[in-house]
Amino acid sequence: MPTALISGITGQDGSYLAEFLLDKGYRVIGIVRRSSTTPYERIAHLIDRVELVSADLLDQTSLTDAVGLYQPDEVYNLAAQSFVQTSWSQPVLTGEFTALGVTRMLEAVKKAAPKARFYQASSSEMFGKVQESPQRETTPFYPRSPYGVAKVYAHWITVNYRESFGLYAVSGILFNHESPRRGLEFVTRKVTDGAVRIKLGLARELRLGNLEARRDWGYAGDYVDAMWRMLQQDTPDDYVIGTGKTWSVRQLCDTAFRAVGLDYRDYVVQDERFFRPAEVDLLVADPAKARRQLGWEPQVGFEELIDTMVRADMDRHAPLGRK
Ligand code: GDP
Repeated sequence: MPTALISGITGQDGSYLAEFLLDKGYRVIGIVRRSSTTPYERIAHLIDRVELVSADLLDQTSLTDAVGLYQPDEVYNLAAQSFVQTSWSQPVLTGEFTALGVTRMLEAVKKAAPKARFYQASSSEMFGKVQESPQRETTPFYPRSPYGVAKVYAHWITVNYRESFGLYAVSGILFNHESPRRGLEFVTRKVTDGAVRIKLGLARELRLGNLEARRDWGYAGDYVDAMWRMLQQDTPDDYVIGTGKTWSVRQLCDTAFRAVGLDYRDYVVQDERFFRPAEVDLLVADPAKARRQLGWEPQVGFEELIDTMVRADMDRHAPLGRK
């Protein structure tokens, strides 16, 4: 039975990846940070099937010990300060978790289990002010936030440890991926949750920032499969993962509000607070290499994804609202 160690197991991707690996017969160990509360909402249904180990991306000893103890075959580094907006108000902390934390994970693997295969959760935010469209593995990076800058560092340190020390280390450049388990601060979930609450009479309006930004939004469940495939290759390499289609925040609003029978123009209010100091205007992936070499294809399209999220939010809120 192969063993996988996942940092960020309590997050959206960690929970889908844990499910995916358990189904494949893996022993799954999740790294969790010590806290006086237990943020296990997303893995509550798996809690009897995964093992949790206390460690922190800010603490080298704890990471080296966790890797040494479990001797994983695969390490998935999904933990980060992952919200772009917060990276302007907490730029140094973002760098500690999202950039230097990756070096600490790589050091832990190099010291304690150098044969383990390592996956780094890289991000389309590294393309930022895009230098070509669609974006592929060779597109130059131009990050536009402290988060994006930290992810560029994390990408290159992963490549560097592969080239310097011969680690099987890969960087998966994933475009935005969403699900009913997406955090409420991200725009897809904010919109599906907002539309449902308005429909149920629990809110009157939805305040958003830039409606013209465009993203390549896929389904998180499809993307964890790509992570795993990247670690099953003969040689480690980096891959772009996305759908190849792009939608604006405005189109997202239209789709989500239509799913509850409303017109978004009656409820969405633009609010300066949600605009960003520097914006990523357009992201769209060219996932040709992943299709060719990993045999990976996204299964869930944008409209189906948003419909699923709206239905999940409806189930969650319905007991509170007036129908
Ligand atoms: P990101 O691509 O990782 O930054 O994912 P987000 O879901 O946080 O944001 C996607 C896009 O939606 C960005 O271009 C934001 O500027 C835009 N957006 C517009 N209004 C909002 C909002 O109220 N919240 C968030 N999170 N994003 C918004």
